[in-house]
Amino acid sequence: MASDHELGQTSVSPATGTAGEWGTWVVRYRVGPPGLGEGSAVRVQLPETWHVWYRNSSHGTHSTDPAADNYVTARCAKPGVALACDVLGGTTDEYVKASRQGLDGREQRYAFVTEVRVQRGHLAAGDEIEIVYGDRQGGSRGFPAPLHPNGPEALRAAVDPGGTGQFTALPQAAAGTLAGRPADPVELTALLPSQLTVGEPGELHLAVLDRWQNAVSAVGGTVVLGTVTGEADYPARFEIPATHEGVLRIPIAARAPGLLRLTARIVGGPAADLEALSNPVRVTATAAEARPIYWGDLHSHSLHSFDATGLHPFTYAREVAALDCYCLTDHAELLTDEQWQQITRDAADHDTPGKFVTLLGYEATFGGPWAHHNVYYRGDRGPLFGADRGTLPDLWRLLAHEVGEDDVVLTIPHHTGVLWTSLPGETVPGGMGPNPDWHHAEQGPNPYRPLIEIYSGHGQCEHLDPDHPLAYEYCDNSLCTSVPGPYYAWDVWLTGQRLGVLCSSDHHHAQPGLRQTGLAAIRAPRLTREAIFDALRSRQTYGTTGERILLDWSVAGAKPGADVLVDGPVRVTAAVAGTAALDRLEVIRGDLSGSVARNGDAAAAFQVVHTLTGQGELDLRLEWEDPDPPPAALYYLRVRQRERIRGRVPMAWSTPVWIERT
Ligand SMILES: [Zn+2]
Ligand SMILES: [Zn+2]
Repeated sequence: MASDHELGQTSVSPATGTAGEWGTWVVRYRVGPPGLGEGSAVRVQLPETWHVWYRNSSHGTHSTDPAADNYVTARCAKPGVALACDVLGGTTDEYVKASRQGLDGREQRYAFVTEVRVQRGHLAAGDEIEIVYGDRQGGSRGFPAPLHPNGPEALRAAVDPGGTGQFTALPQAAAGTLAGRPADPVELTALLPSQLTVGEPGELHLAVLDRWQNAVSAVGGTVVLGTVTGEADYPARFEIPATHEGVLRIPIAARAPGLLRLTARIVGGPAADLEALSNPVRVTATAAEARPIYWGDLHSHSLHSFDATGLHPFTYAREVAALDCYCLTDHAELLTDEQWQQITRDAADHDTPGKFVTLLGYEATFGGPWAHHNVYYRGDRGPLFGADRGTLPDLWRLLAHEVGEDDVVLTIPHHTGVLWTSLPGETVPGGMGPNPDWHHAEQGPNPYRPLIEIYSGHGQCEHLDPDHPLAYEYCDNSLCTSVPGPYYAWDVWLTGQRLGVLCSSDHHHAQPGLRQTGLAAIRAPRLTREAIFDALRSRQTYGTTGERILLDWSVAGAKPGADVLVDGPVRVTAAVAGTAALDRLEVIRGDLSGSVARNGDAAAAFQVVHTLTGQGELDLRLEWEDPDPPPAALYYLRVRQRERIRGRVPMAWSTPVWIERT
């Protein structure tokens, strides 16, 4: 119960909710000693997480249509009192992208303030006003509890006792709290490190998740492990401790070199029969042969951004997604100095070399002709230069002037070629996306930009293909389409810029590292911030849709990211280890020479030159020779698995190798 305050207090019942469950929540405002006369008012705001909906949207909340979702009403039992209830800037639209001002003064996509004004009558100290979120009396489904709960969060409330329009905020202690909790477990994930040496202690990481990828605690039961490929020592049965946070870590050790995969199955308890196949581990006989791959999500947002929510992105990244590295990249443009200091501190506090590495970064949200770019620092401090400070070339000039060379700061573009717009049959606010003009005089090769984010939860920007299953059109955390034009990775490669490839989620509700929203595979000698940064800078990366697929390949004996001179045929070799049956491996060649490249016709310059179709194998090896390569070209590898993960086709994209004929 909230404590007494002279302007009254608010509380809410029930004080909890189960993720995604429809219900009715009643906020009670108990009037303080000044009373409330005609014209006076109270304002209430639920925690932002309670307004999160699908597709990076808030869910319209309103006081206008009794039959629509999220209908809010107000009532008072005292005779003679009449109230007017208004959700400020409210709407019955299902997907809402616009921001509204919250009671803390911030413009936020998930801020909905309900104002209740006394139209007639007088309320004395101790009288109550009830504000009903999800009033179902007119046929509404009610109001959904948060899809991604954060635990207890404070309500906000403010009172205008004099009816002057001057609202005074209630202190947090007088406003009460509301707590979301995960829903029932429906999924088990099993993750292993991608590199182990025989006998080296390792951990199998298991996460029990609900349908919104929240970790579900205290499921009880027993885990039974098995081996699918390779050999390992592990406890055959693992009793799930009575208290856990939805995550289990089981010690394992590989017994033989090769590819190791384990299965896990839960027996008994509410998560019974959930099972998972782990990602593949490359096991080497000695540490000297190890070539570790680290998994990162280097693009995600939290409550610091105007269009995002979520209080615990670092915890989710480390504990639930079991990432090796993570960067919180909130939008720079509306961040305050205090927020940037907080982000800087959080990144430093969570950086644990050898276990979980963080980078310090942010997003500079440029429109065309530049594209959104994330900025990453090698060190633990750095200035904040958003799109409010000018153009992308201005950013590069500021970084050169204030920070230094590209060995300490990087900028990586993402979701190029996107159009924020309505999907057919839907009404949502649209707008142009950040479509880059790669031919712009100041948008040429730049040492700060070694990589492109080729896939995120929004979709792929490898090339223009609106029919691709991972096109912006079909990715469910977006409301967008693909823009025809030279805005994609193929197009930037055609200009001669040597960008490597990675993927990251761009998750907006503090759940980085999901299995369907994009991961960066980073080949670094060790897990430290400096080693990860240097690997990014030298393009020792590839990207996946989120599955920890192992991808090894070379062109003319050269590793991804390299430039190599050839005379005669080009030999391509690849070894791919999937997380499920592989559908196909494709070698794609981009002809960077001749009139096709000069005309900028990406669809003509890029071709699938070789395909290896799988027959249900987990692992495939490819050997192929290009008998007559163009005078200048790049080659990259694309991988596709058969079974969809959470509705999406799992894929991987290598960084190219560039060749020139002597
Ligand atoms: Zn962006
Ligand atoms: Zn973003």
